[in-house]
Order: sequence, then C-alpha cells, then structure tokens
Amino acid sequence: MSEILSCPCCGNSAQIVSSIERKIKVMCWTCSLQTYWFDTVEQALGSWNTRPQIAALQERVTELEGNVMSLLQWIERDYSAVGLVDVRELGRFIALNFPFTIEETERRKALKETTNG
Ligand SMILES: [Zn+2]
Repeated sequence: MSEILSCPCCGNSAQIVSSIERKIKVMCWTCSLQTYWFDTVEQALGSWNTRPQIAALQERVTELEGNVMSLLQWIERDYSAVGLVDVRELGRFIALNFPFTIEETERRKALKETTNG
C-alpha cells in the first residue's frame, strides 16, 4: 500500500476511513477535506494522492514572484541607466501582468522620495 500524502488544503495528515458498507475514502480530520467513497483502498489513495499539493504550489508561486522582483530590480539597476528600457512602459507592463509588484513598487517609490527629499 502506498503512503497517504498530507492534506493538500491544510497540510495535516489524512487517514483511510471505511464505511459499514465496506466503502473506502481518505479524509483529513483537521479540515474535513475528503475523497469520494471507493471500493478499494488503492482507488481512494489514488484519488487523494493525485490532488494538487496547494502548499507546494504556493511555495512555487512565492519563489516565482521573488524571481520577477529580482528581474525588475536588475532591469531598473542595469538597463534604465543606459537608456535601453523605457522604465515607465516597463512599470505599466509589470503592474498589469504582475499585480503583486504594485505594492513593492509603491514602497520603493516612497523610499526614493524620502531619500531625495
Ligand atoms: Zn486538511
């Protein structure tokens, strides 16, 4: 029997549950996320273990957001100075496509104004 992956919603451990009718499901007792009832443990585990792991996906999204911010900083630092990139166009593009960067951009703009003024 293969292992039961942790709950894709809350990350806690899940358990195999059987009904009086000998149906099988996998369930997280913490958040109640569960599979449908199946005839076999293998089917229930197959269903549970192939759910996307939300925590892992969130971690990857955070990593990619960090990459975008690093890229933005690199472009601003190395290319805006030599005039290869229209920074305002780039800013509009990034704000439209990566909304999470708006807050960071505003924070840095405020910081820059504080430093200059
Ligand atoms: Zn859960």
